Amino acid sequence: MSEIINLSNKIEKQLPTELVSFMQVAGEVAASQGQNLYLVGGVVRDLLLGQTNLDLDLVVEGSAINLAQQLAQIKLGKITTHPRFNTAKLQWDKWSIDLATARSETYAKPGALPIVKPGSLSNDLSRRDFTINTMAIELIPSRYGELIDRYGSIDDLKQGLIRVLHEKSFIDDATRIWRGLRYEQRLYFQLEPNTLQLLIRDIPMLDTISGDRIRHELELILKEKYPENVLYRAEELSVLHRLHPALKGNGWLSNKFKQARQLSHSNLPPVALYLALLAYPLTNEDSEQLISRLRLSKSLAQTLRNTISIKTNLKSLANPELTPSSVHYLLHGYSPTAITANSLACDFPVARQNINLFLNRLRYVKPALNGDDLKRMGISPGPQIKEILKLLHEARLDGKVTSKQGEEDLIKGWLARNR
Ligand code: ATP
Repeated sequence: MSEIINLSNKIEKQLPTELVSFMQVAGEVAASQGQNLYLVGGVVRDLLLGQTNLDLDLVVEGSAINLAQQLAQIKLGKITTHPRFNTAKLQWDKWSIDLATARSETYAKPGALPIVKPGSLSNDLSRRDFTINTMAIELIPSRYGELIDRYGSIDDLKQGLIRVLHEKSFIDDATRIWRGLRYEQRLYFQLEPNTLQLLIRDIPMLDTISGDRIRHELELILKEKYPENVLYRAEELSVLHRLHPALKGNGWLSNKFKQARQLSHSNLPPVALYLALLAYPLTNEDSEQLISRLRLSKSLAQTLRNTISIKTNLKSLANPELTPSSVHYLLHGYSPTAITANSLACDFPVARQNINLFLNRLRYVKPALNGDDLKRMGISPGPQIKEILKLLHEARLDGKVTSKQGEEDLIKGWLARNR
């Protein structure tokens, strides 16, 4: 029998006191209900790697909802339950914990969502993607802190390997291909050689995955610290081409992602900006294909369409003679994210200058007078008002007027000429 590893010291050192005492109480309550309780998945992996992760996932052998209800009373917290899968989310103060009933999953057909039944911890661990995500820690008092490692995860963790649990893993669920690349790059690990072979063999299975599920995985990638590394690796293994043959995970993209981060200062850039940069090399037709493959939301689809449309007009924006009002005319109405993507991605320095002028200043310029002011000055309601407001806006943009008085003088001149 292998030696028992107890991680209670690590738990105490690495997790906030509130969460540690919560887990102890949860273990006691579970035991009093005759249930087993475990901490599982990513948080156990990160505990052993010494990395911060406060996303606690608990698995109950029995009923997660029963346990969550009792814990909610103790913590004076709020619970959200999903009776179909017997899962619950418990929230109190600033904390949020997921509790799931151990389940078994079977795949009726590749790519489809699995058939889920209640099961044991072993069932629950055997449905997971990679060995490093299959570790669990006992939480009931008599075994508190003991590590459960059924798949040699500790060795894989030490060697930095991403390994599937069985040969059909990517066939059952090809989103694991993208997940594998994400973990490999995030943790600076390597795909274990046999897993790499299976992954390459099963790349065509990516076509069995719905747009919603692929988009979800892509969004997770774009929320990583360095998404470009995952996309680079995906290009290298021809995974990216399976998403769309015109996508590129090259040095150019890495550069643009870095610039996007510099622009966002301490925050991560929004997913939409990364996606617009990823889609930048595409034609209109390509981007429509990508939009429907990923079933993008209206607003993300609009950002991609705007991005490509501005790119197609870059030559006009690269004219050094353009007045500010013409720059405004060429860019207004487009999504700011699409405009930002073009500022980062375009190759014409003058176009970039004009785009930045728009982003930093022109888009905020507004005339001081409004329609009501114009009516008060004697302009009859109707199309004229719109025309004059446009005139005022252009004059403001081009610096021909700089004050309310200036605008009024401009209108008086216009009235004198047009009466
Ligand atoms: P992390 O990235 O830190 O592991 P995460 O929040 O991205 O966390 P989730 O996507 O929430 O991870 O998944 C939680 C756990 O569920 C993972 O540890 C993994 O074992 C399992 N899991 C998620 N998706 C799959 C999948 N497609 N196939 C098998 N197991 C999965």
